[in-house]
Amino acid sequence: MKRLWAPWRKAYIRPKKPSASRGCLFCRVQGNRQNAKNLVLRHNPSCFAILNLYPYNNGHVLIVPNRHVNSIAQLSAEEKLDWLALTTDVIDALKNQMNAQGFNVGLNLGAAAGAGIPDHLHLHIVPRWAGDHNFMPVLAGAKVISESLQSAYETLRIYLNSGKTKK
Ligand SMILES: [Zn+2]
Repeated sequence: MKRLWAPWRKAYIRPKKPSASRGCLFCRVQGNRQNAKNLVLRHNPSCFAILNLYPYNNGHVLIVPNRHVNSIAQLSAEEKLDWLALTTDVIDALKNQMNAQGFNVGLNLGAAAGAGIPDHLHLHIVPRWAGDHNFMPVLAGAKVISESLQSAYETLRIYLNSGKTKK
């Protein structure tokens, strides 16, 4: 893989990923409410939206149920509705604030499917722009992310908590 100069990555390359022995990342994050530090964008009654610290693309958001469950079947009907409502609002925010032109929305259920945190359900929202997957990831195995996590965080957080999202 070719190396690219991406200085903003230093902030999250340097600290080691939390070890599994410290418990579930998503449970820890929702418990301490240090939203900006943890890149939590918004809390809904039964779930929250958080920027992915290891994004596939700029503005990659995870929608995480508050409860530590590993399958959709374990969510109540109300939790499923709340989860989809927050997903809808985040897509709206990414369209309005980052001019996203399309989205990949999905679940990696289980470690075999590529889930990084297989024990706590989370839905991925990856915003897409025409031409964003250019020759670089295909030929060079590298990806350029053009906006820092902190900048994306501020932009999306303000919008998502402003009451402007379409209901
Ligand atoms: Zn958990």
